Amino acid sequence: MYSDDDFIQLSALQHFIFCRRQCALIHIEQVWVENLFTAEGRVMHEKAHEERFQESKGVRVERGVALCSKRLGLNGKADVVEFHRQGKDWLAFPVEYKRGKPKNDDCDMVQLCAQCLCLEEMLGACIPEGAIFYGKPRRRLPVMFDDELRRKTEDTVRQAHAFISAGITPKPEYMKKCESCSLMGICMPRSMEHSLSVDKYFKEALKEE
Ligand code: SF4
Repeated sequence: MYSDDDFIQLSALQHFIFCRRQCALIHIEQVWVENLFTAEGRVMHEKAHEERFQESKGVRVERGVALCSKRLGLNGKADVVEFHRQGKDWLAFPVEYKRGKPKNDDCDMVQLCAQCLCLEEMLGACIPEGAIFYGKPRRRLPVMFDDELRRKTEDTVRQAHAFISAGITPKPEYMKKCESCSLMGICMPRSMEHSLSVDKYFKEALKEE
């Protein structure tokens, strides 16, 4: 069980998988910069949260649902949690909204699975499935919360906790995905990766004397 001070945000998992430096800048150094991609994503999330509650044909839809897991030390919000009627019960089904298309890594699935683990702890229920809605194409991708995804998610949570509590921001390293990163202007991966540390600078300078 984590104490309240040690909680990390659900979004940190996605940032941690995408780029360790991005995760450190946002969750250790508290830096945030909006770009076209994050603005589009924010508008999409705000739309997803507009109507807080709907019900039709055996499906109840709750938006902007606050989530928390004491066991995993996580908190945040689910865009949408649908509750599907199953006899007398309602089965939770989390849905995450993403502006772009499915990614090559599984950061979106890990983030959704972490939402599932929070909901399971909060509701005392077992949730087998959820979905990610991608803006391009406008389609839902079903996600099964199988043992492998659950294991990967819990491993990522542990690693992200250790990384954030260590409080060390890694050096930048230019990658293709930097082009879509909102922190590109602050991070400056192209120019910074060749810069010398102060220690190295003095060593190089002493060698030249
Ligand atoms: S610009 Fe690249 S290296 Fe820097 S935080 Fe973003 S993804 Fe990471």
